[in-house]
Amino acid sequence: MSEDQQREGLEADEADEGVSPFTASVRQLCKQLRAAVEELSQKTEQETEPKKEVAILAAFDEFRSLSIPSSVRKTLGDLRSDFVKPLSGRKREDALMRALSLLGPMSKPSYAEELLSVSLEVFPGMGPKRVSALAKSELRTPYACLFRFPNRYDDRSALAQVSHLQVGQHATFVGEVLESEALDGGVRNNYGNRGAKRPVLRALLGDSTGSIECTWFHAPALVRELVTPGTRLRVTGDVRRYKFEKQMTHPDLERLEDGGEVMGTPDDEPSARENELQSLRDIAPEYGTPGALPPRVVRELFQHAVEQYADLVPGYLPAEIVQGRELPTVGNSLRGIHQPEADADFYALRSAQTKFHERLVLEEFYLLECGLALRSEMSARAPGISMPHAPEEIEADQASLPFTLTKAQRRVVAEILKDLTKPHPMHRLLQGDVGCGKTVVAFLAALAAARGGYQSALMAPTELLAEQHAASLSNLIEAGGLLTSLRIGLLTASVPKAGADELRRQLAAGEIDLVVGTHALVQGEVRFDKLGLAIVDEQHRFGVRQRAALSKKGAEGLEPHVLVMTATPIPRTLALTLWGDLDLSIIDELPPGRLPVKTELLRPGQGQVVMEAIREVTGRGEQVYVVYPLVEESEKMDLLSAVESAQRIAAAFPDLHVEIVHGQLTAEERNAAMARFKKGESHILVSTTVIEVGVDVPNASLMVIEHAERFGLAQLHQLRGRVGRGQAEARCMLISRKKTQDGEARLKAMLETTDGFKIADADLKIRGPGEFLGTQQSGRLPELRLADLLRDARLIPVARESAFATLAQDPGLARHPQLASAVQARWGDRLALSSVG
Ligand code: ADP
Ligand code: MG
Repeated sequence: MSEDQQREGLEADEADEGVSPFTASVRQLCKQLRAAVEELSQKTEQETEPKKEVAILAAFDEFRSLSIPSSVRKTLGDLRSDFVKPLSGRKREDALMRALSLLGPMSKPSYAEELLSVSLEVFPGMGPKRVSALAKSELRTPYACLFRFPNRYDDRSALAQVSHLQVGQHATFVGEVLESEALDGGVRNNYGNRGAKRPVLRALLGDSTGSIECTWFHAPALVRELVTPGTRLRVTGDVRRYKFEKQMTHPDLERLEDGGEVMGTPDDEPSARENELQSLRDIAPEYGTPGALPPRVVRELFQHAVEQYADLVPGYLPAEIVQGRELPTVGNSLRGIHQPEADADFYALRSAQTKFHERLVLEEFYLLECGLALRSEMSARAPGISMPHAPEEIEADQASLPFTLTKAQRRVVAEILKDLTKPHPMHRLLQGDVGCGKTVVAFLAALAAARGGYQSALMAPTELLAEQHAASLSNLIEAGGLLTSLRIGLLTASVPKAGADELRRQLAAGEIDLVVGTHALVQGEVRFDKLGLAIVDEQHRFGVRQRAALSKKGAEGLEPHVLVMTATPIPRTLALTLWGDLDLSIIDELPPGRLPVKTELLRPGQGQVVMEAIREVTGRGEQVYVVYPLVEESEKMDLLSAVESAQRIAAAFPDLHVEIVHGQLTAEERNAAMARFKKGESHILVSTTVIEVGVDVPNASLMVIEHAERFGLAQLHQLRGRVGRGQAEARCMLISRKKTQDGEARLKAMLETTDGFKIADADLKIRGPGEFLGTQQSGRLPELRLADLLRDARLIPVARESAFATLAQDPGLARHPQLASAVQARWGDRLALSSVG
């Protein structure tokens, strides 16, 4: 059996799941020791003969191949020496008992954990200064070092000839030190003269093709030792120009074995060169300069971490996945990443696509998904409000709508209604592109709740949206015969006090079925009679805490059902990770008759095209949005240009009514202007992004976005979604004033597709997941250490399936104590695992 297989074998052992190879080996050793004690107790004194401890010594030998701290190795070595000579009777018993009592604490997983979290001061060459410098780069423990992966790898097997070195190139060559010279930097005076020069080490290195100067400032002793004439080195660094000469500053040096062709070039002695280079790592990991420490120190730091700590790290992946995907052990993965073999696949390493990466990324996703599975399991068990309803009633409600629901809407309504009948709180995310018709779905859910005798609350991120929801719900109520039974109310900060007080009274008295509002809904004084359903619109504007606050207001102290709606199209795998504890409903269909918005890109100087389009659209009696980037207090210039633009447009169309809406107006002024636009009293709305989310004016058919390059892709998509809601073909004009790389990429995506999911994918690629999700979502963005949501997306479903399977077999993870505590330690706070159930 190879070392690997042995380790694999240990990991597959059920009892040892979730413990490190070190802990598993200690346990194995203890087992042997206990077996010997057992055997001893069954024999009489006379019977016992000195005995060769074959099994015990073999168990000790298991540690040989493990990467564990040298102090621990020494303790084990001392212990082992007791068993080298055969012992008998009392002496044997004493030795066994002594070993067992020493090993007892070591066999607990916490022992390895503590070793992994010691201060880096225990590392050779790490003084307090370096330790605190590293702490600033979040490197405080061996564990942190193991899980800080190289920024990149250097392929040092591709050797350059010195005469061919190019300025600006990062290169490796083999050469000999031809000359070296140490300049001490002049005399320092007692006043710490700042003018004193730094000590410089300068050397000329060359091969048979040419030579190059290398310099070091404050060269450490190690370097000074290496850089002596006659030494053969492998040199890696950036080639720079210095005073017309090529030069390397602080190149990385590796000593070559003595012997071989001294001035050999890559061509003349390939075999000898290969031999001498074998001792060196051909693929060198690069970590940047954490703590501003010299590269050599940094490299030694990581090397030490791997060599002495890698086998203290436990793996949690179930054996089926490990075997099924032929994954290496965690220890081997750490070694494979930090100390790649010379023949490792350089490109796979560089793009983090090796089996080693796969193992560790899966480990990370697995813990996260176990946390999510735990959370959804806990909330599925939590007692909730069952709201039975009659299917005929719901059918009748749907039939009374002024339009027919799309298939997707019907499916989603059915999913929600099914959840509402269960005696456990619903946690559902409703995702659908702008304009797909989420509001009516929410409305039908509230109606079902009302029929079941419960109240609903619909929370929107802005007053404007809350008002719009209330208004469109009123419209639907007026249009639909049966729907009139639903009593709705609006509660925002701008509702006058008397009205708000009355509304609160009605809510508490159960005289209102559905209340629509903003954050005001979750503030302390609002009391419900029987809250059964909480709906949160545009989740990305809403904190998890607000959601939780609303959850506390449920009837009979029970958690209400929660429906979260978002128009931010998030790729499914990402949604699963971010809202993994929510069930997902997707509306992937737009109401019939919607034509894709025709999108054009304009450059400065094409203002005439815009004016013509406005004339054409308004000539047909349709309305126009002109959007400027957000006006901030500090950006008076932008406000000015928005206002000027409004005036220019007003002057050009004297027969039309132009409104301007921006963040510096009071809420009332803004609402009044919006209301006039909605009613068709104004024709052109010049605004800053306050209209971004959710506004619904079906008669608007032209969207002009100024400085389009300044908007994020999701924002552009949201804005464009404001038009094309009616029957007329809509247009969107993107005016780009400045070319930037990301800006152009965003505009290109906008021209290519109107599909929100494709837009989201593009956005994700341009910005990366962290950025994409924005700060508002940070409450949900899991902090992943190794895994990259985008790069590793394909592994999420693997980890998820496996985690949910584990939880299905072992609810609450009672039979996986190690896994349970690892999940708790890593994600407990983030996922509020203790607060559920
Ligand atoms: P969003 O999902 O972006 O919140 P809305 O709920 O605001 O979308 O709906 C957009 C528009 O589509 C509204 O005017 C709404 O009345 C209308 N609508 C919704 N569902 C349908 C449907 N099935 N058929 C026709 N129009 C619909
Ligand atoms: Mg909406």
